[in-house]
Amino acid sequence: MEFKKNEIVKIEILDMGSDGEGIGKIDGYPLFVKDAVTGDEIEARVTKAKKNYGYGRLMKILKPSPHRVEPKCAVAAQCGGCQIQALDYAEQLKYKENKVRNHLQRIGGFEDITVLPIIGMEEPYHYRNKAQFPVGTDKDGNIITGFYAGRTHSIISNTDCCLGAPVNEEILKKILAFMNENHVKPYNEENGEGLVRHILIRYGFTTKEIMVCVVINGRRLPSAEKLVESLCEIPGMTSISININKKATNVILGTEVVNLWGSDTITDYIGDVKYQISPLSFYQINPVQTRKLYETALDYAGLTGNETVWDLYCGIGTISLFLAKKAKQVYGVEIVPEAIADAKSNAKLNGISNAEFYVGKAEEVLPEKYKNENIHADVIVVDPPRKGCEESLLETIVQMNPARVVYVSCDSATLARDLKYLCERGYGIEKVQPVDMFPMTVHVETVVLLSKKP
Ligand code: SAH
Repeated sequence: MEFKKNEIVKIEILDMGSDGEGIGKIDGYPLFVKDAVTGDEIEARVTKAKKNYGYGRLMKILKPSPHRVEPKCAVAAQCGGCQIQALDYAEQLKYKENKVRNHLQRIGGFEDITVLPIIGMEEPYHYRNKAQFPVGTDKDGNIITGFYAGRTHSIISNTDCCLGAPVNEEILKKILAFMNENHVKPYNEENGEGLVRHILIRYGFTTKEIMVCVVINGRRLPSAEKLVESLCEIPGMTSISININKKATNVILGTEVVNLWGSDTITDYIGDVKYQISPLSFYQINPVQTRKLYETALDYAGLTGNETVWDLYCGIGTISLFLAKKAKQVYGVEIVPEAIADAKSNAKLNGISNAEFYVGKAEEVLPEKYKNENIHADVIVVDPPRKGCEESLLETIVQMNPARVVYVSCDSATLARDLKYLCERGYGIEKVQPVDMFPMTVHVETVVLLSKKP
């Protein structure tokens, strides 16, 4: 049987896809239904009917799944930030573990792979140390802030995101009050008028230091001293600045930051490594889970103090500095020059002198150093963006012949592809450890230990 568009079907949700959509079947044809969770019995309206599968809209829940919970956030369904808040946390973890296993089997061809139980959070809310809230107006002309609805630029008003630091709400309310009292206009994306575009907030979970950066379409924030005075009432306020972004672009931050009050940076720790963070710095979003992720990577690197380690895609050197404490020498490679500048100053801040950093593409820097300087690696760590590693980089890794490769991945599909390449060329998978860095979303991070087969 095929579906017909607009047909109403009764269906049981058997599984969930990579984007968190529910999947049910009628006579073998899969129907994908957003907002439905595994175990739900639902009524759906078919919105798109293709030859071998279709999409449906959730119309009615006939019998809720035993794993269905009331989302903590009132706008969970509209907001693009969370995808699986309606699933209880234990089931979210199972879903992510399965996602990793399925990708390794289907894409990597690893049939009997053991995936270790995922490392979850004890408290899976309020874990984000960074938030960027767009500012705009609602249909009645009120100034609002919140989040973009999924795949659009319309703002869902919300000052109480349950993933962010609880202090965000007070900061946002103060900024909205300041704008209303001082007639400061929000930016309008459509005609490029108005001033305030985004509010960036960073919070040091360990140090309790707060950073607020207001992104504006101009060079000056009128009555800025009043905003400073109001924000300084919040305990922990450490840095207040504006960021100048006059471009008609989706990129949130411009390149110029002007300090209004306090320090240019805040400080935070992952484990006992200290980091200084500016509004423009990249920094891991979930420090509690990042620590567990890095400790796993460090454990898998198996360092005794004599090793030379390459940390590819090193960002601001977070993993490199973790490794440096146990290795003889660490080399980090990263494409963004500002991140490397941060990596170097973070090394200095922590008194680490056995870490060196290079700016460039991993797939260019490593082969070049290998060919021209005949460099060596006992362990290579990679932590690429979602698209995974270039094949030419994997080729160089195989040539360099390290005893161990530690692969930190934020996309298990490209991870599976890259592991297949390495395992066809002399490496074997020792351990696969998923870590839940982003509860309530479909994302899953994985650390894999590969070792050279004898
Ligand atoms: N390991 C870091 C950052 C990982 S995110 C941490 O844990 O904090 C991936 C990083 O890869 C980003 O910083 C991105 O700028 C960088 N990157 C993307 N493409 C790259 C390439 N071809 N070569 C080197 N770095 C790259």
